[in-house]
Amino acid sequence: MVKCQACNRKVESKDFCKYHLLAYKVLKQNYGVWCKAYCKLSWKEYLERLLKVKDTGLWVKDIIKLELKENRRGLDYV
Ligand SMILES: [Zn+2]
Repeated sequence: MVKCQACNRKVESKDFCKYHLLAYKVLKQNYGVWCKAYCKLSWKEYLERLLKVKDTGLWVKDIIKLELKENRRGLDYV
C-alpha cells in the first residue's frame, strides 16, 4: 500500500489520500485567486501567508507544511 505523503492513509491518487488531495486542490485553486489579487506572491509566499491565517483548515496546513519542508513548487497533482 502506498501511503499519503501527509498522513498514513492509503493513497487515492498521486501522492495523497482523498482528504489531502482535496486540500491540495483547494490550495491550488485559491492560489489562482490570490495570484490575481497579489500578483507578486510566489507559491512559497502564498503558503507562508496561509499558514498564518487562522481559518486555514488542518488538512490544508498539512499540505502547506509538506510543500514548505520539501521546497516544492506546487506540482500539478490535480
Ligand atoms: Zn493524507
